[in-house]
Amino acid sequence: MEQKLFVYNSLTRKKEEFIPLDAPHVGMYVCGPTVYSDVHLGNCRTFISFDLIFRYLLHLGYKVRYVRNITDAGHLEGDADEGEDKVSKKARLSALEPMEIVQRYTVDFHDVMKIFNALPPSIEPTATGHIIEQIELVKVILEKGYAYEVDGSIYFDVEKYNQTQDYGILNGRKLEDMLNNTRALGGQHEKHGKLDFALWIKAKPEHLMKWPSPWGVGFPGWHLECSAMSNKYLGHQFDIHGGGMDLMATHHTNEIAQNVASCGNTPARYWLHTNMLTVNGQKMSKSLGNSFLPHELFEGTHALLKRGYSPMVVRFFFLQASYRSTVDFSNEALDAAEKFYKRLAEAAKKLSALQQNPLVAVDDEAENEIASACEDCYNGMNDNFNSPKTLEALNNLSKWANSFADATRNSGAVSAATFERMKKTYNDFFYDVLGLKQEDNEGGDTAGLLGLIVNLRNQAKANKDYATSDKIREGLKQIGFQLNDNKQGNTDWIRI
Ligand code: AMP
Ligand code: ZN
Repeated sequence: MEQKLFVYNSLTRKKEEFIPLDAPHVGMYVCGPTVYSDVHLGNCRTFISFDLIFRYLLHLGYKVRYVRNITDAGHLEGDADEGEDKVSKKARLSALEPMEIVQRYTVDFHDVMKIFNALPPSIEPTATGHIIEQIELVKVILEKGYAYEVDGSIYFDVEKYNQTQDYGILNGRKLEDMLNNTRALGGQHEKHGKLDFALWIKAKPEHLMKWPSPWGVGFPGWHLECSAMSNKYLGHQFDIHGGGMDLMATHHTNEIAQNVASCGNTPARYWLHTNMLTVNGQKMSKSLGNSFLPHELFEGTHALLKRGYSPMVVRFFFLQASYRSTVDFSNEALDAAEKFYKRLAEAAKKLSALQQNPLVAVDDEAENEIASACEDCYNGMNDNFNSPKTLEALNNLSKWANSFADATRNSGAVSAATFERMKKTYNDFFYDVLGLKQEDNEGGDTAGLLGLIVNLRNQAKANKDYATSDKIREGLKQIGFQLNDNKQGNTDWIRI
């Protein structure tokens, strides 16, 4: 590869050059959603961050096998084997089949990812589709002596494992400290040690999702699915493993232990973790009650929102921070993101239509600044996928694009190669790498019709005929268009 990419590896806590095991092939595993409810905007941030990483690797020419699982069984309410299975509980409370819950929220997740212009992964395996692989993995861990059975459940023996391995490797923590700082949680009466975790859980009679196994009827522990499915599709060792930072302490720590215990090595060489979307400084989370759904943001219907924002503005808002920094939600930050996004989107349009003027003597300033802004697009992404740096470089390019388009500078004063490089780099980064798209490129007919309908609706509103204006607004919403009244008294529309 021409570019040298550096990534921050949570496993070594260092920035390292990314060198795949088998270039140009790259294996990447990302923990996917638990499909028992709508994904909230925090979840979206994590998946959009990995979409950016996936897109950049593709742009560099890697052939990426991107595996992102769907958790449809085994994820209990608490991380440490307490509570009910989330999918089963939702099914019980809604009097539905668990697979109806899974289907509904998987479809919803896909819809949301598409709205955010996230590329689908190469493989999207489910936990319930890999029960046999998970049982086989438990057998191997038992054979190697790192697990034990108690009354139909199998637990991983953390203290035994730590005698020869480093259980806290991912967080750089010592077992002693972890033992001292852990509350006794689910299944403690059966567990030998406080940190032991379930590989297989005996199902109570009322439990809905259960399978036969050599140890009786039960279901797999949550951490097991990712070890089994990454093994199956990416092999015992692959390049990148990702997920949110909140998965490091338990889910990924246990996943590493399972892999080391069964195959002798950590599954991935580079561990990438995304930071959290926060609301007033607190992690956005369903259980904290401060989460909102993508549609609430598009429609501006959540109490924290002053108005709606389009999907590309939200994507852009996320890209304005590095994936390893927290992002705090605020209306002001979204307003700023909207302005910036529109400016860059406008320049992308202008640039693709721009023809270079006849060549004249080269203006060194233009030549050098454009060349270095093009390089900086790469420098940003090569520095651990630093999208804010890349956006800054695109912003510099957009200024040149604008001055060429409005003829305040002569586009003939840069070499043809530099002019083409500017167009290509801008296009590649705006659309392919950052995954942005134009939101007002509906073609004349749709835009014209929408404009006409919006005017009729606004006339009805001005005449206090709210029944008609609401009917139009609702009707448009049902066919996928959201109207937003802005402060200037105009009405924008977005596709939802
Ligand atoms: P879950 O469906 O709860 O398993 O979460 C799916 C993914 O979303 C995981 O990688 C989590 O780490 C991530 N996640 C959860 N909450 C947030 C948040 N507030 N900000 C960013 N990522 C999050
Ligand atoms: Zn996982």
